[in-house]
Amino acid sequence: MAVHATVAVLGGGQLGRMLGLAGIPLGLRFRFLDPSADAPAGAVGHLVIAALGEEAALEEVVAGADVVTYEWEGVPADAARFLASRVPVHPGARSLEVSQDRLVEKQAFRAVGIATPEFAPVDSREELNAAIEGVGLPAVLKTRRGGYDGKGQRVLRSADDVDPAWHSLGAAPLVLEAFVPFDREVSVVAVRAMDGTVACWPVVENLHSDGILRVTRAPAPRLDSALQERAEEYARKLLEELDHVGVLAIEFFDVGGDLLANEFAPRVHNSGHWTIEGAATSQFENHLRAVLGWRLGPTVARGESVMVNCIGRLPDRAAVAAVPAAHLHDYGKSPRAGRKLGHVTLTSDVPDLDARAEQVLGLM
Ligand code: AMP
Repeated sequence: MAVHATVAVLGGGQLGRMLGLAGIPLGLRFRFLDPSADAPAGAVGHLVIAALGEEAALEEVVAGADVVTYEWEGVPADAARFLASRVPVHPGARSLEVSQDRLVEKQAFRAVGIATPEFAPVDSREELNAAIEGVGLPAVLKTRRGGYDGKGQRVLRSADDVDPAWHSLGAAPLVLEAFVPFDREVSVVAVRAMDGTVACWPVVENLHSDGILRVTRAPAPRLDSALQERAEEYARKLLEELDHVGVLAIEFFDVGGDLLANEFAPRVHNSGHWTIEGAATSQFENHLRAVLGWRLGPTVARGESVMVNCIGRLPDRAAVAAVPAAHLHDYGKSPRAGRKLGHVTLTSDVPDLDARAEQVLGLM
């Protein structure tokens, strides 16, 4: 390896930018591939501007790189395979493939013993009827591919909702899943090193609205050791089954202490941003350590944290700075409705965490 190892990252959004920000102190150099000329990661490395599937661009971004990783789960699995014959790619193409199809993803969860809501594949109107018969109502109809942040899904509360949902989604392969009356949504962010060592950060509680993550509380309130152990066991099984190297996050519905997996992301995750200030090692640093074949850093939380996403607009920077132990992360993106522009992490280094979190929410 050269004096400075170079990491090529497919995708140049805020996750890439935060990987870069974590890697620069480690002496790493970064090259990013992103279709957008003003991709946030351009501030922390060399940016190749092209679509993520273009072979010439893939070759350009990995030129001189020691390892390739990705920060977007929409990277075509074929792109990862194409590169893997040239440079080590971590996590591998399989993690992408499984996470990109909600049906395959749920089957993978089940195959390793991870509980999920009831589900059934839907490829025709007749199959939708049969799926409703089996899964029951209420249920959620989702596109198998391309859905994120609540897009590409419809809740079916009664028989009246079925036709409209079919008309809006039925052109694509679908999956029907039971609507879960969850107590809360939680997630576990986990990392697997090249030697197979697995480490998990504490389980966190996530508040979504309109399908977008708004607030993460870390560790999750009322987190008992049984819930943490169950989440860790699930994460370990999935990481091993995928032979995944790097960070992976699983989102769950918590129903009376039982965890039902909703989906996983084969990358650093929004519900792990708090680890930058709130944990002994951040998800970004540990992802880099993993993909470089280094030892992982400890994942213990330093007290409690609350992470608040800035959606659509950023709060006044000076006003955030005036809130004690509030840390602003501005992704450098132009504002647009529903867009994640930054986040604020509050730590328990000073008292009244909840009141300060409310104060920051008030600034949004
Ligand atoms: P997803 O795109 O699958 O992450 O879904 C976005 C959000 O929709 C989730 O965070 C939940 O709040 C809600 N949701 C998705 N699937 C279900 C389900 N089966 N039951 C209840 N709520 C769901």
